[in-house]
Amino acid sequence: MGTAHLQIDLGALAANWRALDAASGAECETAAVVKADAYGLGIAPVARTLQAAGARTFFLAVAEEGAAARAALGPEARIMVFSGHMAGDAAAIRAHALVPMLNSLEQMTRHFRELPGHPFGVQLDSGMNRLGVEPAEWQAVREMVVARRPALVMSHLACADEPGDPANGRQLASFLDMTAGLDVPLSLGATGGILMGRDYHFDMTRPGIGLYGGLPFAAARPVAHLHAPVIQVRHVEPGEIVGYGGTWTARRPTRVATLSAGYADGIIRAMGNAARLWHGDTPCPLVGRVSMDLLTADVSGVEGVPDTLEVLGAHNRIDDIAEAAGTIGYEILTSLGARYHRDHI
Ligand SMILES: *Cc1c(COP(=O)(O)O)cnc(C)c1O
Repeated sequence: MGTAHLQIDLGALAANWRALDAASGAECETAAVVKADAYGLGIAPVARTLQAAGARTFFLAVAEEGAAARAALGPEARIMVFSGHMAGDAAAIRAHALVPMLNSLEQMTRHFRELPGHPFGVQLDSGMNRLGVEPAEWQAVREMVVARRPALVMSHLACADEPGDPANGRQLASFLDMTAGLDVPLSLGATGGILMGRDYHFDMTRPGIGLYGGLPFAAARPVAHLHAPVIQVRHVEPGEIVGYGGTWTARRPTRVATLSAGYADGIIRAMGNAARLWHGDTPCPLVGRVSMDLLTADVSGVEGVPDTLEVLGAHNRIDDIAEAAGTIGYEILTSLGARYHRDHI
């Protein structure tokens, strides 16, 4: 088989949700963020697995993701949309029974005019300055909006991957201030917020990356396992180069494996000469640049010719690969290409 094999471990996914649910506390609902095709791992199998594990509320980025999510989850699940009610969204919101998180007065006006009585939530900006109603605007419309019974009032933390960052406390104080006296379900924390403890949980937490095996949930089980097949192995003598641009030169006799996977498959080019692949417990450093369809790795430490090497899995967490590429685990997952042979196990 020519293509690399991507296995999605649905058992690990469910275990990660249960662990974050336990960490969220008994009074708090644990939702699941499945935007961007469930962080690139496949909305239908991922959403169904999380639903079977106990999740009842799911978050998407945009209404266009609603059809696939509703088809996977059936009529009972609650599906909420972070980007809110954008122009042209009314038909999709109605057809798939989505709950938009209204982010601005413009979105509120649109929603109450186009879909009066249709469930909605509100996203507040508590300091990240990305999405959400600003404190002064909220003050002006709060009473009118709350009278229409929002399903959820939420905000999002900018620095939750750094628990010691003072921005977290400032955002918490701002959120508490904006929601004081409200009798409406509240939500502030995603994966990082869950790990920061009860003050950040409110009535609902919204984990994403931790479900999929990424930091800041260090105890997560890896979910994505990627193995690339070896096409050939060659001996390279000291002084010989490997790959485009000759960016790697052998200093000793080296066995170099060429594998079928490249930047067209989401193996980020910047990890050339930096990441390690694995054969069992043996590290096999990438040597030379990542090509569109090929990788080259030093397999001198491996006896014989390996069939495949691990690109992601037990030895290579998404954050290990991300560090080598100068990025984050989120981008590693959402970059995973369409060409893999995919299996959900
Ligand atoms: C993506 C997202 C989440 C999930 O965040 P993770 O860090 O992946 O847990 C939660 N809330 C909002 C608003 C988001 O955009």
